[in-house]
Amino acid sequence: MGKPHVIAIPYPAQGHVIPLMEVALCLAENGVQVTFVNTEFIHERVMKALPEAGNIHELMNLVTIPDGLEPLDDRSDLGKLGDAMYKTMPGNLEILINNIHGIESGERTCVLSDYYMGWALEVAEKLGLKKALFLPASVAMMALTSNAQKLLDDGIIDKDGTPLTQQVIQLSPGMPELSIMNLPWAMVLDLTTQKIIFQAILENNESTKLAEWLICNTFNELEPAALSFIPRCFPVGPLISSNRLGKQAGYFWPEDSSCLQWLDRQPPRSVVYVAFGSFTVFDQTQFKELALGLELSNRPFLWVVRQDITQDIHTAYPEGFEERVKNLGKMVGWAPQQKVLSHPSVACFLSHCGWNSTIEGLSNGIPFLCWPYFADQFLNKNYICDLWKVGLGFNKDDNGIIKQEEIKNKVEQLLTDEGYKARTLELQAKAIASVADGGCSQKNFNKLVEWIKEN
Ligand code: UDP
Repeated sequence: MGKPHVIAIPYPAQGHVIPLMEVALCLAENGVQVTFVNTEFIHERVMKALPEAGNIHELMNLVTIPDGLEPLDDRSDLGKLGDAMYKTMPGNLEILINNIHGIESGERTCVLSDYYMGWALEVAEKLGLKKALFLPASVAMMALTSNAQKLLDDGIIDKDGTPLTQQVIQLSPGMPELSIMNLPWAMVLDLTTQKIIFQAILENNESTKLAEWLICNTFNELEPAALSFIPRCFPVGPLISSNRLGKQAGYFWPEDSSCLQWLDRQPPRSVVYVAFGSFTVFDQTQFKELALGLELSNRPFLWVVRQDITQDIHTAYPEGFEERVKNLGKMVGWAPQQKVLSHPSVACFLSHCGWNSTIEGLSNGIPFLCWPYFADQFLNKNYICDLWKVGLGFNKDDNGIIKQEEIKNKVEQLLTDEGYKARTLELQAKAIASVADGGCSQKNFNKLVEWIKEN
């Protein structure tokens, strides 16, 4: 009998590929054979960004299927991407699986797909394979999306997911509150995209019912109410504490590790780390104001400025900014974020509150300044500020801009109140305990592995 086999399929975005790759690496370490299925487009990016010393090919089989778009199409158009994917990927996945040698019997082969790619479970069902899901977002986010039909039935949103009221909702006590205006699907950027995404969420809610196992990148003490609300969701996180910094893969940009040496030269707990994940973009006015706010704060800062973060990055900085801050700050195109967050010089994390960034900051005991942009980031911000109390948000002025003085004030407030750091350290200790031997996340992961290995 061959090794048990997992076919892992992420949603094609950075914040989905990285954590599923982490799960895949943990499975490979536990004697499971892994085939990791990226779209062709993502695969190419991942291959280009791989560090030369990486050993990913020895650990798993990296394969591809098309996403249904043309090579030059804009993949940040999430509606268009979604449409193309749902039309073409199921058929292509089926062909790919049928062509994997030795898979005919279906025994001990499991499809492990991203929670938001539930259609992959329909393919697994058709082929008689085991079916598992990985949730790369918070369980509170899953609770919201899986309640979309109820919000529709209750007249809180219309058939396109558009809010019909201005109320604040909370699905159960202990879960974060959320203004209806900030529902994840309503935070995408235009109505056409929203409609496609909302429809996909409703369909996904059906296909995900096929799952025999559902794991998520969280831990019991972090989301107790949400986990009681969705008892079929088993936490295995935080994935990054599994101590595998050496084997990271799945990044879309090559990392600029010069910032680690720069961090070595900064005093302990002094640096404001500023990063907005893979998708956030800024208009030029807000971008300039952020730059001036960092300068005004007058603390060392490390700022991830992706090439595509604003239009024409070369002219985007305020006049003379780069020269003035050359001894204070460092800008990089893409940072080794997990290593940065575990560096003793980092004091706080000015973040867009993507779920991975949230988990990574918490796992390293770093308090937050929250600058959510879209999707689930407003919900995550409410967790951080209202429930865990490990960070602060920003207020916008009458023109919708977060001004430089506001940035400076919030940096000061966060770093002079020791309570934020103390609460973050408490959560960090719980995070570490949950993935240590005998910890709840660790036990859940072991059970998943046993189930994958069963006949
Ligand atoms: N990330 C990184 N370097 C950077 C910025 C981000 O490695 O300079 C990683 C980060 O560690 C996280 C992921 O990219 O694992 C971003 O995921 P998240 O859910 O925070 O945000 P998204 O990109 O999905 O909006």
